[in-house]
Amino acid sequence: MMDKGWTKTTCPYCGVGCGVLARPKADGTTEVKGDLEHPANYGRLCSKGSALGETMSLDDRLLDPMVDGRTATWDAALDLVADKFRDSIEKHGPDSVALYVSGQILTEDYYVANKLMKGYIGTANIDTNSRLCMASSVAGHKRAFGSDTVPGAYEDLELADLVVLVGSNLAWCHPVLYQRLVAARKTGGTKVVVIDPRRTATCEIADLHLAIAPGADVALFNGLLAHLTSRGKIDQHYIQEYTSGFGDAVKSANSLSMEKISEVCGLREADIRQFYELFEATEKSVSVYSQGVNQSTAGTDKVNAIVNCHLATGRIGRPGMGPFSVTGQPNAMGGREVGGLANMLAGHMELGNETHRRIVQDFWGSPGIADAPGLKAVDLFEAVADGRIKAVWIMATNPVDSLPDADKVRAALKDCPFVVVSDVTRHTDTTQVADVLLPATAWGEKDGTVTNSERCISRQRSFLPPPGEARPDWWQLSEVGKRLGYREAFSYSGPREVFAEYAAMTGEENHGNRDLDISAYANVSDDDYKDLAPFYWPQRHGRGRGVTRFFAEGQFYTSDRRGRFVETPFRAPSSRVSSDFPLVLNTGRIRDQWHTMTRSAKAPRLTAHYAEPFLEIHPIDAEKYGLEPESIAKVTSQNATVLLRVAISDSQRPGSVFAPMHWTDQYASLARIDSLIASHTDPVSGQPESKFTPVAVEPYAARWFAFAISVAKPELPSSGYHACAPIKAGYRVEIAGVEQIDDWQDFADQLFALGSENDEVLTYRDEKSGQFRFAHIKDGHLAAALYVSKTPVSASRNWVANLLGAKLEPPERLRLLAGRPGEDMPDPGAIVCSCFEVGVNQIVDAIMKQGCTSVDDVGACVKAGTNCGSCRAEIGKLIDEKSVSKAG
Ligand code: SF4
Repeated sequence: MMDKGWTKTTCPYCGVGCGVLARPKADGTTEVKGDLEHPANYGRLCSKGSALGETMSLDDRLLDPMVDGRTATWDAALDLVADKFRDSIEKHGPDSVALYVSGQILTEDYYVANKLMKGYIGTANIDTNSRLCMASSVAGHKRAFGSDTVPGAYEDLELADLVVLVGSNLAWCHPVLYQRLVAARKTGGTKVVVIDPRRTATCEIADLHLAIAPGADVALFNGLLAHLTSRGKIDQHYIQEYTSGFGDAVKSANSLSMEKISEVCGLREADIRQFYELFEATEKSVSVYSQGVNQSTAGTDKVNAIVNCHLATGRIGRPGMGPFSVTGQPNAMGGREVGGLANMLAGHMELGNETHRRIVQDFWGSPGIADAPGLKAVDLFEAVADGRIKAVWIMATNPVDSLPDADKVRAALKDCPFVVVSDVTRHTDTTQVADVLLPATAWGEKDGTVTNSERCISRQRSFLPPPGEARPDWWQLSEVGKRLGYREAFSYSGPREVFAEYAAMTGEENHGNRDLDISAYANVSDDDYKDLAPFYWPQRHGRGRGVTRFFAEGQFYTSDRRGRFVETPFRAPSSRVSSDFPLVLNTGRIRDQWHTMTRSAKAPRLTAHYAEPFLEIHPIDAEKYGLEPESIAKVTSQNATVLLRVAISDSQRPGSVFAPMHWTDQYASLARIDSLIASHTDPVSGQPESKFTPVAVEPYAARWFAFAISVAKPELPSSGYHACAPIKAGYRVEIAGVEQIDDWQDFADQLFALGSENDEVLTYRDEKSGQFRFAHIKDGHLAAALYVSKTPVSASRNWVANLLGAKLEPPERLRLLAGRPGEDMPDPGAIVCSCFEVGVNQIVDAIMKQGCTSVDDVGACVKAGTNCGSCRAEIGKLIDEKSVSKAG
């Protein structure tokens, strides 16, 4: 759909699923803005979405099929994939092959992948990285509702009087949804409770923050169920008419006294009571939960403990009420809908249900169908490791970095006889272990549909031609399907045909007994598919496109149509801290990066927010373990060791530390966080425990620290600590080492590989303090600079980075060597507002010197927070901190 050159599409990042308008520009870049008509965002975009246009370059794009590191034709590569898969199936059976896909691929891609594996190859060994993200929500929904149904919609957060955010840093991970909540709170006074071990940016709007001990959520919600019951604040009518299992669930919930809950949760009884009384008194309550709930060995129980409270109060499926799982990825929901998980079939049908298997097989007319659930993600890679799986095809994901016990996964893939990777990026930690690389189409080139966290299906539309030999994932899968002998079943002419087939399947023998039904689109025409506006499912009989909700009057999808209370006895996390590993590591996202950074790190204004991997640690623990501010920490678990920059913060609980999960070997020397994580999983969902890893921390005994900028990519040392981030005119690098460097000039020469007799070189040395500073100027323009110190370098990084590539006059050369702007040129400090590149020092000045007392005041003064709004929570935090220091 085109309007003055703009194409309506959907953001490829998080599960909010914002509508985006995109328009290619004459200079090859792309302009983006929020789609005012999209029901997820009504025109808003967060910092990542706003920067999408800056991530479209073809740098490091995979543009040709490659076999054993050499360019190949599509025919040669696809023939090889089909031959190797066929060979393995014939010799070792269908379960010897596997597909590992991703919440980044489109619903049409997912559908074809499932059809190929489950219907034609005859194995359910297809799983997705969504297993790492929300499998516990799926399992919890199925236990309670009989189906994987999200009962409510985003507008429920705006209609609620109380929003409880459990294990969700909404401000950073679902920023536009957070902004909708902030706006609703401003006008309606919504109360917000945040349940999270960390004081995250989301806590800026919290009326109550419960800094719960990691892994204790089940105890807290069991206590809530017991409290509601003892106070008679339950909906007897709803319980009796529409549910079963209430008595047993309450009995189980009652097993912990308030004193014990307080102890397990590490919270004061008074704070717990405040939460319980708020929930009790507020009918319009929504409980939003995310990875903090899901990524746990008790993840499914956590989901059910929350859902139990909503069933008991009948607060479900009505405006402003309900449990609400928000997904991490743009199409985690679409994947769930077409059977992306190893235990599901398309159309929310069950692999373990004979009738469902028959319906699907008849619909496809396939020779057979997998008759047992396949291997879930962690088990799937264990099967690669022990040789049961001999050929694996990885699509749009980076398991060498994102799976727990990531070093073992890398070793398993290296040893696997045949590894295929379909991706858009040439160099990832996973493409390095592939035998065959298949170039996929990227955002802007892809065409299909995605489903967001509120069951809204939207089109991702192409507005750019595929570069080089890039091809859609559904096409790649279909071509292999044809080569395996299933020509008719995979002869799709385009994504419209795939979508129509999937839509038709959802209506097969569905008389309202399955939640997912979009059969209204079974005959969607090319034009209608092209113009398809976002719609909520179900769409059975031409119902409107508006918001739909489930379960206000029961009608669950269990055998007796009753919702189930589930007993959720509290279990402590499967790992324990010990004297060897005394701290609990929590992992998660940061505001401006996405997954393993393959796209988001291309936008310099996103890397300016956090340019290197870090470890957040409470001041008490930092002191206890000898970690100085800005130094490097060595973080060790039973599985591995990583090196991270120390960020001391009282937003951590003592005893807990946090590290982001984004950095890979492509951007840092030793920061693959999932290498630390053990492969412990939830027994029901198979989701790994990514939020509770016992670790030890100690100072990395660096003899020197360095900060560098360079127009060309620097040649980084092969040992020690380093992290490299793209910036506007080149790269910025942090380095630290334990080895003595005798000649810093030689070090600089090797790092930058510059060197021409006509260039100017500025140096400053102070042997006593270990300071060395160096700048390389080419034709009057800054080409590289290096700052070395025995202690963490104190240069004004963003100021220095902004000089790269610029013409330098003599006074600036002196300031450059000093690493600081003069009095007349204030240092912006670390970037907080990535839209207008406003740094922390500018915001602090606005608060301290200009007297700004609100986020809006700061916006009026320095523009920060006035575009996408993603930084407003951080600005609010600075106002709180600085107001206290002013008062003091
Ligand atoms: Fe994209 Fe941000 Fe919207 Fe998520 S909230 S879909 S990342 S624009």
